[in-house]
Amino acid sequence: MDSCMSVQREVEKVLTKFSKLKDHSVDTIDDFISSIESLRKELAEGPADGPVQMTQSSVLNQALHRVQEATGRMGQEHKDLHSTVSKNFVAEFSAVFTESAFEKEDCRELLNEIVCEHFLRQGKLDIAETLNEEAGLNLDPTQMEPFLEIHRILEALKRKNLQPALSWVAANRDRLLEMNSSLEFKLQQLQFLEMVSSNAHDPAFIIQQARQFARFAHKHTRELQVLMGSLLYMPQGLQNSPYAFLLDPIYWDEICDVFTRDACALMGMSVESPLSVSIRAGCKALPPLLNIRQVMQQRQVAGVWTNKDELPVEIDLGSEHRYHSIFACPILRQQSTEHNPPVRLICGHVISRDALHKLSSANKVKCPYCPVEQNPEEAKIVTF
Ligand SMILES: [Zn+2]
Repeated sequence: MDSCMSVQREVEKVLTKFSKLKDHSVDTIDDFISSIESLRKELAEGPADGPVQMTQSSVLNQALHRVQEATGRMGQEHKDLHSTVSKNFVAEFSAVFTESAFEKEDCRELLNEIVCEHFLRQGKLDIAETLNEEAGLNLDPTQMEPFLEIHRILEALKRKNLQPALSWVAANRDRLLEMNSSLEFKLQQLQFLEMVSSNAHDPAFIIQQARQFARFAHKHTRELQVLMGSLLYMPQGLQNSPYAFLLDPIYWDEICDVFTRDACALMGMSVESPLSVSIRAGCKALPPLLNIRQVMQQRQVAGVWTNKDELPVEIDLGSEHRYHSIFACPILRQQSTEHNPPVRLICGHVISRDALHKLSSANKVKCPYCPVEQNPEEAKIVTF
């Protein structure tokens, strides 16, 4: 925490210095521009082919000299500023990454595709298209369209325009229902509440509209009870009723999240851009990795971290980065991998395949947890 505070102080100092430097530079540059302008005017007023007078040439030389001096000074000041900022950051990461990771053609292509996808997700079509062209990715427009559609609908939702999302939901209704999605109900609910709170429609029309919720009745009974209860307060306005919470702007944020999650799931994509997730994970992992590298160098045990596909320490990225269950072998105390998957013994106990091999002898293995004996061949791979 202390070091964070000191960086904070440093940053404040640098910012003050920077704004002073900027003001000063702008003034100096303005001065130069006006004096050069006036010199140019003076020269232009003289005879077209006439020689430059002695005084004029010396004034010109002086001006040039001053400009040179000032740019040199500004350059130096900028350099000082830069070193104050950069000394707080480590720029040498070669010890903690695998240089050969992106050497292979297919790996490089994959990286470019992920970068391209990231821009598509953000709706930055022009950047994605340029990258697609320059990196020779050959992504066809049908691959790009779903990202752009999601982006367009989200932008509309942020402007409280529900129509594009409602049409998308109508077009994908069957698949959304298969996923047990609540998106359509939530969208219809928002639309209905907008209508009720606008006071622009007569009660008979609103009740007529409320009937469309019948098809959601079995799944959203509780929410519908609340929604229908709110109709009692229509004459005095929902804003002044116990149901005012239904108009909380938080529902608009929520609908954006629900839409992104369901639309991505429907298209078989991850909710978050793989590039942002990797960068966030990398930012968390870098400091401990740099630390351990330093410790390893000091103690001269550099050989400990030889396999760069595996990290020398466990790095916890927090619950938001846990995507699937993992299995750790209770015998070898190792996390299972593709090459060493968990296996289920006939008694139901699960250990890793490596442990099974270690425990078996003469085609027999005795469960380490219960006395059941079996043939190792009978163990079945467990997939999570
Ligand atoms: Zn057992």
